[in-house]
Amino acid sequence: MEKQVLDKSFVPYLSKADINAAIEKMAATINADYDGKKPLFIAILNGSFMFASDLFKKIEIPAEISFIKLASYKGTKSSGSVVTAIGLESDVFERDVIIVEDIVDTGKTLSEFLPQLMHQQPRSLKICALLHKKEATKFPIQIDYMGFEIPNLFVVGYGLDYNGYGRNIDQIMQIKE
Ligand code: 5GP
Repeated sequence: MEKQVLDKSFVPYLSKADINAAIEKMAATINADYDGKKPLFIAILNGSFMFASDLFKKIEIPAEISFIKLASYKGTKSSGSVVTAIGLESDVFERDVIIVEDIVDTGKTLSEFLPQLMHQQPRSLKICALLHKKEATKFPIQIDYMGFEIPNLFVVGYGLDYNGYGRNIDQIMQIKE
């Protein structure tokens, strides 16, 4: 059924069952890949809170999770915005880190954040993203665990917002063109 979020209409795109099945698959792969390890999940707020919660419940190996916010501000150099992480309490040094993102669009956010994280010398660093808009890629990111490749259309729900609203929709909806 169509839904209105602020001034835009959205139509169903990925159902609760679709999302759940994709998360089951990702979790099973992570459980196998990290057998014998104790990974540190780092979920990027706000958008990934629902995804991170559902994914983490299906992780059966010993694991930690930490939530961060990425804030971008205008750098002093011409290169434009710089991303800083707020709230990373866990020590990343020599940890097996898995980044949990809701959606990778142009790849800009992660392309700025990942090198910073690498400075802290994790033992390994992998990316888990529920959604990937491959056509929108400007900064190629290798996504190790992916739910869905989606077209370059705006989506809301399941934690993703439109101007702050729509995060509480329990499925993923696509903007009505
Ligand atoms: P990137 O840096 O990869 O271009 O953008 C990543 C961020 O942009 C995501 O974490 C998300 O916050 C936002 N974003 C990109 N596409 C969408 C979309 O279709 N819907 C929503 N709600 N957010 C999006």
